[in-house]
Amino acid sequence: MKKRVYLDYSATTPLKQEVLDAMLPHFNASFGNPSSIYTYGRESKNAIDNARDIIAKSINAKSDEIFFTGGGSESDNWAIKGIAYGNKHKGKHIITSKIEHHAVLHTCEYLEKEGFEVTYLKVDEYGLVNLQELKEAIRSDTILISIMFANNEIGTIQPIKEIAEIANSKQVYFHTDAVQAFGNIKIDVKELGIDLMSISAHKIYGPKGTGALYIKKGVKLHQLIHGGAQEKKRRAGTENVPGIVGFAKAAELAHENFDEHIKHLTSLRDKLIAGLKEKIEYIHLNGHPTKRLPGNVNFSIEFIEGESLLLSLDMVGIACSSGSACTSGSLDPSHVLMSIGLTHELAHGSLRLTIGDFTTEEDIEYVINQLPPIVEKLRQMSPLYEKVKGGN
Ligand SMILES: *Cc1c(COP(=O)(O)O)cnc(C)c1O
Repeated sequence: MKKRVYLDYSATTPLKQEVLDAMLPHFNASFGNPSSIYTYGRESKNAIDNARDIIAKSINAKSDEIFFTGGGSESDNWAIKGIAYGNKHKGKHIITSKIEHHAVLHTCEYLEKEGFEVTYLKVDEYGLVNLQELKEAIRSDTILISIMFANNEIGTIQPIKEIAEIANSKQVYFHTDAVQAFGNIKIDVKELGIDLMSISAHKIYGPKGTGALYIKKGVKLHQLIHGGAQEKKRRAGTENVPGIVGFAKAAELAHENFDEHIKHLTSLRDKLIAGLKEKIEYIHLNGHPTKRLPGNVNFSIEFIEGESLLLSLDMVGIACSSGSACTSGSLDPSHVLMSIGLTHELAHGSLRLTIGDFTTEEDIEYVINQLPPIVEKLRQMSPLYEKVKGGN
């Protein structure tokens, strides 16, 4: 079989075998509705309670502060719309950043149409928000600050504790989208001072369509999904029992082997960065050199179109992503890359390689060997590159 190397762990991850094993009985043998009072139901209810305890413990929250959802996007929507509608009597101003995931940005844009005002903080060349600007953006009618923990494209990690301190000192709620951070950075919600936090299972070797929202006790927010009395009457719908069980198993595994996992990712990441820098001219690392996710590599490669690069890499079995327009599903290249000040050309020529637990040294060497000749071949078609080379 042709060699295949998956380097898109920030898009999604494969389910771990232990996760699948934990989930399987809940599809048939133990299929009861958790709301039912007979044994079938109680088994499911116990499985959810146990999962809630595990997720809570993994972020130092209390079990009754964890609410299961249909994934990271739902958690973001619930946190932001929930706080907005639940606190609009206090004010209608929200602060976020320009580099959030679309689940946050598009929710904020929707709320603008609903009469809320949103400040989108800019970021520096590394993707960091400026704390002084954040302070200055807070007004008497600000009800929420939503800043992501770590960015899904460039991997930059924000100063979450400092942001939370600023929010708390002004009595403004603080939500963070920690979908990329969870499982890759140790998170203690109490120590960090976080009020609401979104997490998702499929980014940590769990199933798709399952997530959670951490809601600190006492935080007032409206409900998003109305219906039955599930999740303490705050999120209706028969629980996704297999998904929830799988999510907890994935979180447990992530935290069991945490240091090992981080060491593995970091060493492969640094090897990939060094290898590509050495072999390819005119490339630039996007994101922060040190404050970045352990598995994130993002380069802009000059004189290259991201989509052509992805197609060529796919032909040699390498799966990764780009912030170029064609792949972002719109006419414009990635809003994240534009926000850190890249030109259209550099944003179009971006390549994101994200490493995970199943990535091997051999995979990294394969990419370091395959990518440079592909880049060279594509560059041969660029008149601009010819000119630059000719000038040298
Ligand atoms: C993947 C992702 C989401 C969306 O999570 P889903 O579970 O896919 O809905 C939100 N935010 C970030 C930062 C992500 O990486």
